Amino acid sequence: MHATAPVILWFRRDLRLDDNPALSAALSSGAPIIPVYIHAPDEEAPWQPGAASRWWLHWSLAAFDAALRARGNRLWIFNGPSLTVLQQLAHETGAQAIHWNRLYDPATRERDTRIKQHLRADGLGCESHKAQVLFEPWEILNSSGQPYRVFSAFWRACVRSLQIESPHPPPEHIPSYTGIKFNAACALKSLALLPSSNWDAGFHATWEPGETGAIARAHAFIEHGLADYGTARDRPDQLGTSRLSPHLHFGEISPRRVLHMILSSGGDPTQGTAEPYIRELGWREFGYHLLHHFPQTPDAPLDERFQAFPWATERAEMTRTAWQRGQTGIPFVDAGMRELWHTGWMHNRVRMVVASLLTKNLLLPWQSGARWFWDTLVDADLANNTLGWQWTAGCGADAAPYFRIFNPVLQGQRFDPDGAYVRHWCPELARLPDKYLQQPWTAPQNVLAAAGIRLGHDYPQPIVDLAQSRTQALAAWERIK
Ligand SMILES: Cc1cc2nc3c(=O)[nH]c(=O)nc-3n(C[C@H](O)[C@H](O)[C@H](O)COP(=O)(O)OP(=O)(O)OC[C@H]3O[C@@H](n4cnc5c(N)ncnc54)[C@H](O)[C@@H]3O)c2cc1C
Repeated sequence: MHATAPVILWFRRDLRLDDNPALSAALSSGAPIIPVYIHAPDEEAPWQPGAASRWWLHWSLAAFDAALRARGNRLWIFNGPSLTVLQQLAHETGAQAIHWNRLYDPATRERDTRIKQHLRADGLGCESHKAQVLFEPWEILNSSGQPYRVFSAFWRACVRSLQIESPHPPPEHIPSYTGIKFNAACALKSLALLPSSNWDAGFHATWEPGETGAIARAHAFIEHGLADYGTARDRPDQLGTSRLSPHLHFGEISPRRVLHMILSSGGDPTQGTAEPYIRELGWREFGYHLLHHFPQTPDAPLDERFQAFPWATERAEMTRTAWQRGQTGIPFVDAGMRELWHTGWMHNRVRMVVASLLTKNLLLPWQSGARWFWDTLVDADLANNTLGWQWTAGCGADAAPYFRIFNPVLQGQRFDPDGAYVRHWCPELARLPDKYLQQPWTAPQNVLAAAGIRLGHDYPQPIVDLAQSRTQALAAWERIK
């Protein structure tokens, strides 16, 4: 390679300087580096980033550009198509090599393979690297060489081969390329990633997108939350989980860095207080494993019996809208759906409960819930969203059996015992005594009146009878099983 020929570094969902294998490989060449982000949502169709993801992406790109500038470089943003941009850049700059970190969803995987073939045919050195996962989705297979469908066996195999290489430290300086002006480059603002309404006000109060926010959150969790994670993780009324999911999704922190931080503070992946947390990182790996081996699953159930499931069509639009808006009249569910709308995130326990209500009590297809989550979650991730929805709907790998239907009243009483979560997100119920908080329709009229509630007016009547709909769901299951 000519001494001054630059290296193109194509950033996607790996917006970090720390432990970034593509960046390390590019730096090791000693060449100037052109950091590039290419906006090409159509290439991710039909799973282009949803509105909440776009919000996150905007701020994450801004933070990443600032971090690069602090190291003597900057982020160049272009509009796609990706292949055309990369070819033009290579042509204009004489770049001989391109690096990126791998993505695993079907559309980008197929695109990246095609781009790699084209660039190599053009004579460019083109390397992709592992950065988003601990294990490549194809690395861990069972003794017959088949993908795992049961999490515990998958994770046992992962833990057996878990080698924690040291993460790559962030560079002090990233040499920049000053050869030409990139006339086709555009400003971040021109991508119009932010919502036009002020829907995102609560997002700002909740999150700090970018690598600095990610590392700060990981440190805070390991110091203050990890020891109690095993018990606090199921409590949506507490800050019992790490809330690292959007940071992990956008690659602002690597799973290897998180693991390394935990292990170097004395954690053990097989036992002790760190084990349950590391196991959840394992579920994330399992999601990538399944998506790789079963790429049809974002739309189609892994358990094919569910193709014929008799989903409800009557009143579907009305019930789905009530669910989306947090107006089902079932407080634990409404609290979750409102948390999602206001912060772009929902606690895992509540995700399971709202998904169960949609797919079992309301008999609406899990795909419609997955789509809503896709648009509203800041951590929307094709592998993990698909895993979560198919798990709850009972049609995925190692799924909760269909007949296990969460009772949202009992779930609320158990995991929000003082009602703090429901009172926070459904303030109209705040004055209701604990006894009735999770099921206001059982409260006597005088209790409702004393709490200032007229059901059906200040807060909805439940849109579904939980017991009756449970029976109906079980009958629907009998028809396909
Ligand atoms: C219906 C449904 C939809 C979901 N959609 C998504 C999604 O789009 N994106 C997403 O990242 N997670 C999804 N999850 C999984 C889980 O709810 C979130 O990862 C978790 O709530 C994120 O919060 P946290 O970072 O505080 O998690 P923690 O409890 O602190 O866990 C640490 C990390 O482990 C991973 N993780 C934890 N639980 C799971 C799990 N059950 N499955 C896969 N990975 C897990 C996440 O990367 C998480 O950041 C979904 C779960 C359900 C039931």
